[in-house]
Amino acid sequence: MATLTFEAERKDWDTYFMDIAYMVSTRSRCPRRHVGALLVQGKKLLGTAYNGAPMGVPDCSEAGCMISEQLEVELVDGVEKAVKKQRCIRTIHAEQNLLLFTDRIDREGSTVYVTDEPCWTCSNMLANSGIKEIVYHRGYPKDSDKVKRLMEAKGITFRQLLEYEPPAQARMNVINE
Ligand SMILES: [Zn+2]
Ligand SMILES: [Zn+2]
Repeated sequence: MATLTFEAERKDWDTYFMDIAYMVSTRSRCPRRHVGALLVQGKKLLGTAYNGAPMGVPDCSEAGCMISEQLEVELVDGVEKAVKKQRCIRTIHAEQNLLLFTDRIDREGSTVYVTDEPCWTCSNMLANSGIKEIVYHRGYPKDSDKVKRLMEAKGITFRQLLEYEPPAQARMNVINE
């Protein structure tokens, strides 16, 4: 008979930190996407951030999203097509806020936990930030190929938590971009 011990129920570190990243993401006021990011050194949490407008200016919940339309090439049924995409550009991405609010010395050799796979711009900045590992949950296919190549070139471990389930109170529908 299997005995359920306290140890067996205890969260592993990846789940523990990703749960925190999801709880942090609930602070976001952009209705299109809630992203949370953490800086972790060893097992120590050194910083948290989410996507949002700069401090002191109206955010998406007050001023509405600032929508930018862009044409992007996408594979539709195996054929490359120019597809019109809408993105909210009002917010500073969670990863960029994380870099703004942490110190370089703390980032050296650290891990970033982030609810969503970083976009190209955030990845480029993270690649130059001193961190050694990125752990994410939801994929972001648009930039994924070039982001993975960049992380490989930089020797940054890049892991997706495929089996992970976010806490129920932090779940939201992402508006697909
Ligand atoms: Zn927005
Ligand atoms: Zn980004």
